[in-house]
Amino acid sequence: MDFTLSKEHLYIQKAAREFARGEFTDVAREFDLNETFPEKILDKARKLDLIGLFIPEEYGGPGLGFLEHALVLEEFWKIDPGIGQQLCSVSFGAEELLLFGTEEQKKKYLNPLFTGKGIMGFAITEPEAGSDTAAVATTAVKDGDDYIINGSKVMIGNGTVGTFLLVFCLTHPEVKSKTGRHSIIIVETDRDGYKADEMEGKMGLRCSDTAAVYFNNVRVPRENLVGREGDGFIQLMQFFDRSRAYVAAHGVGLAQGAMDQAIAHIKGRKQFGRPIGTFQATQFKIAEMATKIEIARNMTYKSAWLLDNGMADTKLTAMAKLYACHMAVEVVDEALQMHGGYGYFNDYDIERFYRAAKVLEIYEGTKEVEKIIIAREVLGKM
Ligand SMILES: Cc1cc2nc3c(=O)[nH]c(=O)nc-3n(C[C@H](O)[C@H](O)[C@H](O)COP(=O)(O)OP(=O)(O)OC[C@H]3O[C@@H](n4cnc5c(N)ncnc54)[C@H](O)[C@@H]3O)c2cc1C
Repeated sequence: MDFTLSKEHLYIQKAAREFARGEFTDVAREFDLNETFPEKILDKARKLDLIGLFIPEEYGGPGLGFLEHALVLEEFWKIDPGIGQQLCSVSFGAEELLLFGTEEQKKKYLNPLFTGKGIMGFAITEPEAGSDTAAVATTAVKDGDDYIINGSKVMIGNGTVGTFLLVFCLTHPEVKSKTGRHSIIIVETDRDGYKADEMEGKMGLRCSDTAAVYFNNVRVPRENLVGREGDGFIQLMQFFDRSRAYVAAHGVGLAQGAMDQAIAHIKGRKQFGRPIGTFQATQFKIAEMATKIEIARNMTYKSAWLLDNGMADTKLTAMAKLYACHMAVEVVDEALQMHGGYGYFNDYDIERFYRAAKVLEIYEGTKEVEKIIIAREVLGKM
């Protein structure tokens, strides 16, 4: 494979970089502090084709690929992880619709993400079912031509601001195998019985929406089923093979942004009569950071490129997500360290990056879950 980014890739990367610098820089700290949803920035990003880049033109999207999506997210997260998160999550779950949805569903639900105020999300996690997604207990029971949904979800991106969610539901409790019990069903958030409460006190990414969601006899038509009934678990695993590639891009962007801030600081800050960046101990740390970022970037681009070329690679994508996200946590820690005590105050952006980073090792599969997947792929059935 050719790892050189094309002229078109570089053009998109530059457009995203300029957009993020221009739109995020002045407001990011305040949005994080006040938990302000970045609505105007989202509207502008929609107009500039900087969201959901992998969604084909026939469904309203920019018609590009996962690699372009990853490049844009990297640039966004470099400037502000919180706004980057929200702009990314507007189309969170679209991969699932593209893979398994009907033509009608793709047209109906994806177009408004670009032409209107459409925002989607993917509701999987429950109070008793986190890493163990097969334990999801929100039920969808058939009633004539409808499903009736009951249960609750936690930590759901866009639960409050979203127009619809893909909901991972238990449809076949009688089935013993974990792969045949669940189905994915579209739920519009204006349906009777749907309720969402913003979850307060989030450590980072505070301008993005994360909610507890409740379904109380929510009735949806059977045409809202995505893919085949009972195939939800298998479909979900294929979704993660895609979504993990761009969570890896979040990690690369966050780490690059943190290192950029550290470099600016160590060039200016003097101790013992000279800039701290002239001490070899500091320079070695920068060398290590830059190397790790480059490794993660290569893994991320490769997994996105494979996806774009029809070769989804479960192992590599899990490795990219594991490595890039752990690397981001390490890099931001060292970057804050280089700021000394100043890094501990929110006058400096590094404090916000530090708080944002940890979630990368938790959502879209915790680092332990990624290791389970990688070990299974490497070892085979034991
Ligand atoms: C900001 C944010 C946004 C989120 N957005 C969404 C969203 O949009 N949609 C959604 O559905 N969910 C979302 N989540 C939820 C997220 O996916 C879960 O938090 C994650 O899957 C972990 O589940 P849990 O929190 O229940 O932790 P648990 O599963 O309870 O895990 C706790 C710890 O135990 C470890 N552990 C569990 N099982 C094993 C095992 N077998 N072996 C070794 N260690 C194990 C875990 O790795 C972890 O360290 C979001 C979470 C956050 C924080």
